[in-house]
Amino acid sequence: MLLIVRCCLNSFRRLRFGECHVNSVFSVSRRSYVADKRLIKINRTMNVKLTKHETFKFTDYDCIGFDLDNTICRYKVLNMVRLEYEVLSMFMVDEKGYSPKYLSLPIEDDIDFMLKGLILDVYNGNVLRIDSNAHIIHGSHGTKQLTRNELKQYYGEDCRWHVTDTFAKDPLHTWNGPLSEQLRTLLDYFDMPAGLVFARIVDTLDEENGNKKLDSYSIWPDIVEALTYMFKKEHFMLEKGGYFPNMKNKPEEYIHKCSELLIHWFEKLRSNKKVLFLITGSNVDFASHTAENAMGKNWRDHFDIIIFFAKKPGFFTENRQFIGLNGIEETDPVPDAELKRGSSYSYGNWKGLYSFLSKSCGKENPKIVYIGDNIIQDVYAPAVHGQCDAVAICEELEAEGVYGHNQCHKEKHLLSSKTWGSYFHHKEAEKATIWKEFIRNHAKICIPNLEYVANYPIDHDFLKPDQ
Ligand SMILES: [Mg+2]
Repeated sequence: MLLIVRCCLNSFRRLRFGECHVNSVFSVSRRSYVADKRLIKINRTMNVKLTKHETFKFTDYDCIGFDLDNTICRYKVLNMVRLEYEVLSMFMVDEKGYSPKYLSLPIEDDIDFMLKGLILDVYNGNVLRIDSNAHIIHGSHGTKQLTRNELKQYYGEDCRWHVTDTFAKDPLHTWNGPLSEQLRTLLDYFDMPAGLVFARIVDTLDEENGNKKLDSYSIWPDIVEALTYMFKKEHFMLEKGGYFPNMKNKPEEYIHKCSELLIHWFEKLRSNKKVLFLITGSNVDFASHTAENAMGKNWRDHFDIIIFFAKKPGFFTENRQFIGLNGIEETDPVPDAELKRGSSYSYGNWKGLYSFLSKSCGKENPKIVYIGDNIIQDVYAPAVHGQCDAVAICEELEAEGVYGHNQCHKEKHLLSSKTWGSYFHHKEAEKATIWKEFIRNHAKICIPNLEYVANYPIDHDFLKPDQ
């Protein structure tokens, strides 16, 4: 049974993941973080001690890499999350026989329960937040908030759990394998709704058990099956699984178009001889669809090389072969040394891509920066395993209106939460969350979106306050 569950969890990860005008930027790091001159002023008012001002600028890099989903391609998040929730909840009711009593409620009824970065304690039916030192600082059982004493009953006087401790030390250690059966992080807007599905089912099962908690919950493998059904890569072409048919037929409901300014920013980087590359977890057909809707028909022209279905974070740590593409058809394996400029591939590995980038810019040790929204796949993995700097995209900066940003995100009601508090901070514990810790340790800068930096000249000096 254990083996089946493990296969199930890993197969979902293999399936998809492998696993406003600019005025200021996130400046939380002891080490880094950008700011323009206005932010320096803001930081002074926030009592952030700026002792020296390093700078970050995109033109300091030889090669600039991008994630696609939620990075270049921004989604209309509420529409997408609602669609995902409906597909998942319907699957759980129709295929797995769970009660529709809570699952069939609209997500709007529990919209404040949703937040990127929640952590599921799968067997206990709990939803958790941890601080920068991996202490459990906040939690719920199902959708019901746990008191400090209740948290201690689960996790001891110190409120620690060996699985979250391991995650905080090395998140890739819990990505696959036995610990991934116990803990699941909701890292982006693709899996955020799975947290609500999980919590509502815990509520249902407790109620069916005479309002008593079960000794253990075995819901998550069923949710993995639902996620697999929703995101199975073949389902885009086959128009199955609920998610892809909607994204395919009504892109204007789900995808924001990039501004002319951002397109021009890409062009300026290219004309400054920067090597631009794209690494996406999405399959070639879906990624081409979203990229075209975001960037226009000639979207491929912005990149020197494109890697689809890259299975991050494994792309940065493992040695999978590149597979050639003929249109959307996968062809034969391609040796790392034969990667060509202007081409696209599936799968692959960072070491091979690094050699390609090195050759392309004629430098043995090129300076590379990678930009993405997923803190583990796009920030931690390239920074720790890829000899590469990272830039974090975090829409929550504008949803919460923090670190010098206006609260101007149109979907702030979904992306921020009064129930859980800030994505970056836990108010009562007065602690940074684990996500802020990862960002400040592994990202050079954190920005709400690419449109934000596209308002600046490509050689703009962003100041990195040393806090
Ligand atoms: Mg992404």
